[in-house]
Amino acid sequence: MFSLEKYKDYSNEIVDMMLNEAEKMAVDLIVPTYDVGDKEGCTFEAGKVTIPACFHDAYKKFCEAGWVCAHRDPEVGGQGAPVSVYAACFEYFNSANFAFVMYPGLTQGAAGLIENRGTEEQKNKYMYKMYAGEWAGTMCLTEPGAGTDVGALRTVAKKLPDGTYSISGTKSFISCGDHDLTPNIIHPVLARIEGDPPGTGGISIFIVPKYKVNDDGSLGELNDISTGSIEHKMGIKGSSTCTLNFGENGKCIGELLGKEREGIKIMFLLMNEARLDVGLQGLGHATAAYEHALQYARERIQSAPIWEMKNPKAKAVPIFEHPDIRRTLLWMKSYVEGIRAMNYFAAFCIDMSQAAEKEADRKKWHGLVELLTPVCKAFSSDRALEVCSYAIDVYGGYGYCSEYPIEQYMRDCKIASIYEGTNAVQALDLVGRKLGMNKGRNVLNLFGEITSTIKKVYEIDDLKEYNSHLQEALNAVGDLTRQFDTWGKGAGFLLPLLNARPYLMILGDLIVGWLLMQGAQIATEKLNVIYREADVEGSKAGQRSLARENADVAFYQGKIASAKYFAVNVLPTLEGRCKTIKISDRLPIEMLAESFSS
Ligand SMILES: Cc1cc2nc3c(=O)[nH]c(=O)nc-3n(C[C@H](O)[C@H](O)[C@H](O)COP(=O)(O)OP(=O)(O)OC[C@H]3O[C@@H](n4cnc5c(N)ncnc54)[C@H](O)[C@@H]3O)c2cc1C
Repeated sequence: MFSLEKYKDYSNEIVDMMLNEAEKMAVDLIVPTYDVGDKEGCTFEAGKVTIPACFHDAYKKFCEAGWVCAHRDPEVGGQGAPVSVYAACFEYFNSANFAFVMYPGLTQGAAGLIENRGTEEQKNKYMYKMYAGEWAGTMCLTEPGAGTDVGALRTVAKKLPDGTYSISGTKSFISCGDHDLTPNIIHPVLARIEGDPPGTGGISIFIVPKYKVNDDGSLGELNDISTGSIEHKMGIKGSSTCTLNFGENGKCIGELLGKEREGIKIMFLLMNEARLDVGLQGLGHATAAYEHALQYARERIQSAPIWEMKNPKAKAVPIFEHPDIRRTLLWMKSYVEGIRAMNYFAAFCIDMSQAAEKEADRKKWHGLVELLTPVCKAFSSDRALEVCSYAIDVYGGYGYCSEYPIEQYMRDCKIASIYEGTNAVQALDLVGRKLGMNKGRNVLNLFGEITSTIKKVYEIDDLKEYNSHLQEALNAVGDLTRQFDTWGKGAGFLLPLLNARPYLMILGDLIVGWLLMQGAQIATEKLNVIYREADVEGSKAGQRSLARENADVAFYQGKIASAKYFAVNVLPTLEGRCKTIKISDRLPIEMLAESFSS
């Protein structure tokens, strides 16, 4: 990738350096805000929102280090970093404290909208300050009567003689909607201009600042926006979630962003990245929960080993030694590495869709981004929650208590399946739109990538048996995908929608199985070189003892173990899960509503 013009200033060394910096910032600055931010939470008094005090210093340093928009172009204040590198760095930040990351995250997202569709004047007025973190940003879509159904929104924009708009309406659940972190907050607000048609096609988007901005860039008077309340939530308590009332006194002024009635189109410009961010959020929680569980399992002494059960004098061992704990940890490790690979691959596809030299290649990569986006968002968040839940199991009763960080990971993680479009909506997007997009070529390209890995791995004896599970899983999913296409065109059109969520999880598992296998193939190549140099090529015992003293060897062996475990324990379930869908059971849609009561 670094040979491409767009990323010619990047190299493995620079990426390593960025990752080290990100890790340092996450550990030294953001981790200390995790527990405190959760306990302190946000408060709402006399119309003002206060966020955890410890966020302020961390935010200042985070912005000074240029992290808010590191992946944006240098001309707008970024570092031009590949999105895939930015994603890897953000895994550290998200693991450290996602509630904190939401403030700069939403800010760069909102600024990105202005960069994409704003006028030069709007960029000068808002964007640069936002990318620098000086002012914050939000995303204002949801209303009390318009959640999933964004088209039902009731916020109104009335054109004024000077070309600005008077905005009035209520937005609910607005993350970071108000706070005391920055002197101004810029809200991109979806609203319907008076007289425009109903539905999503009639929606426009407006830049609505908390404080109006004077021509010289200084802060003007307070705009007519008030915070009605903040939500009291299960998790991400350090992130303020606000009800915002726009124009209660008829004096809320907004500027049109882009053209009239293009609001949804403009919002969707950034949707792929925003949804990938939520996938990365899930990854961050899963990574942190797994790492904690692994460490705890090595330290917690409980029960003698099963093979000593008849020996009353047998000593208790670390729980890591018990087979069920080992199985649980390997399940978690496989999914953490798999979700990571999936999200990094999607980010890599974004990079290639922007930087590949040939237009046909850019189109192919963009098609993969479109296809993978709902899977990254929904699969990662759902599986991450399972990883967090298993982490609690590893801790036993202590995992359920707030003395340890695990229960917070699970609480913080849950929201990822809900916002940015619920996971059900992601599945509908996948099945209803993305599979058929580009005449089905995107999903065929994905299957083509999987097939090419299978061909490469075919040469590796140690992985042959596992590779055959990947091939069988691919056959089953390919078959079901064709069946969806047939159903979609006929009387069975409800069946793909009914099964959209299980299908998304099946496709996600296939992608994870594929990417883990790809990792195992690379790890095998690396290990072969190391084994040859250490003269342990034919000796399993030699290879095991080498892993004890060489961290790289242990790491690569671990990669192969994850791929093998997943290939044997998850991939064979795909055929059965596909079969379940193909039986085409319609009960949930045919049952009488009255019969649902239990
Ligand atoms: C902590 C938090 C932060 C948030 N931050 C923001 C933010 O910054 N900006 C913002 O604009 N919004 C934000 N939201 C709102 C969030 O995006 C919505 O909650 C979400 O889109 C779902 O809308 P809803 O809550 O109204 O649920 P509903 O739309 O009422 O959905 C309820 C259930 O019905 C299902 N459902 C609805 N329609 C369909 C359908 N057509 N087919 C199948 N299933 C369907 C949903 O999947 C869900 O399971 C946030 C929410 C929370 C809780």
